[in-house]
Amino acid sequence: MTGSSQENPIAPPPLRNDCFALPAGVNWTPVDDALDLLRNRLHPVTGHEPLPIAEALGRVLAQDVVARRSNPPHANSAVDGYGFAGPLPEGVHSLPLVPGRAAAGVPLPVSVPAGHAVRILTGASLPSGVDTVVLQEDVTSDGTQIALRGPLKKGANARRAGEDVDKGDPVLAAGRVLTAADLALLSAVGVAQVPVRAVLRVAVISTGDELVDPGQTAGAGQIFDANRPMLLAMAQRFGFRPVDMGRVRDDRAALRDRLDQAAARADVVLTSGGASAGDEDHVSALLQDAGAMQKWRIAVKPGRPLALGMWSGTPVFGLPGNPVAAMVCTLIFARPAMSLLAGARWLVPQGFDLPAAFEKNKKPGRREYLRARMRDGRAEVFASEGSGRISGLSWADGLVELQDGARHVRPGDPVRFIPFGSFGL
Ligand code: AMP
Ligand code: MG
Repeated sequence: MTGSSQENPIAPPPLRNDCFALPAGVNWTPVDDALDLLRNRLHPVTGHEPLPIAEALGRVLAQDVVARRSNPPHANSAVDGYGFAGPLPEGVHSLPLVPGRAAAGVPLPVSVPAGHAVRILTGASLPSGVDTVVLQEDVTSDGTQIALRGPLKKGANARRAGEDVDKGDPVLAAGRVLTAADLALLSAVGVAQVPVRAVLRVAVISTGDELVDPGQTAGAGQIFDANRPMLLAMAQRFGFRPVDMGRVRDDRAALRDRLDQAAARADVVLTSGGASAGDEDHVSALLQDAGAMQKWRIAVKPGRPLALGMWSGTPVFGLPGNPVAAMVCTLIFARPAMSLLAGARWLVPQGFDLPAAFEKNKKPGRREYLRARMRDGRAEVFASEGSGRISGLSWADGLVELQDGARHVRPGDPVRFIPFGSFGL
């Protein structure tokens, strides 16, 4: 799908090396500040290519699209019935029928004189002299004339040319992720091919000496790599192309090689694990050495640490190793950031308030995301907040977001629930 963009890319300029830099003096960065920074510093990194609309579902429009044709292109009937020149006043009317029938795709090339009517079907162009249609159910016909009861307004049961979209109107804006409905709209207004962005390639690397792949034999002290399947699947759900770069031991040289390969093959890299400042935290150490690393201490739970950096010009999100934190950081920070990189808009996940089905005393100074689900119109949260509790991610249908301040949530209090669907999952 990216073939033509690779041959003939119109690629935007690369990101700056300092794009993740925080303002000086910031200690714990509030979530909203972190999001503002990402939103202001990131821009599209993908090239353009033209695509037939049949292949464009889920792709990002690279340019605004205008209607090449009006919808509907011609005035037509909204119902099966009889057309004539309106209006008709109150009372009983009988109108002689003009021979013939106007049907969808089969226009009737006649002129219907005032006071006459013609048989017309749904979608048929209105013949000359017709601007109003009466439903066939409201008519008695003997084949040569019809009888009906007024009043009928001029224009009743008829669709005006261009009443939906006029030729030349903007229909979809650059950055739009094309939906099934968009493909219908583009088709209707005569657009068969659209300029789209190349699909953002998202490399995923797991780090850690303790990891083995599902299906392998896990020895003493070893665990299965849970993050990589999850992050690859998330990238796919977000409409990006997942690039599986495997897992790497806690070995700086091996990780350096893998980052080189990932940066060559993808537009953005997601790593998990090794993002803190410990002895085995090689992701942050390498990004630091590369000179374009920002360690963001974001006031979020679950979350820290999040290491952001540039590796050979490719942005790297160094996600926490804990699967719950890796998922939440991806949903809250990496997804809207990757959306910008992909040429789409910044994404703000939409939620709604639900009465809480739980009680919680929340500390001030950080935003919290709880694994949650909606049951009987209330927000339930997972029994444990432990960030290693992967079963809670699977149990949940979404997240409850608790704002930065202190709060004592009691059962029945409104809390913000953001379904996973709002995050594109
Ligand atoms: P780290 O951030 O590397 O210190 O890892 C934090 C925790 O997450 C540790 O308990 C790791 O074993 C665990 N962890 C790291 N990567 C993964 C992974 N890919 N799948 C499951 N757990 C992981
Ligand atoms: Mg580790």
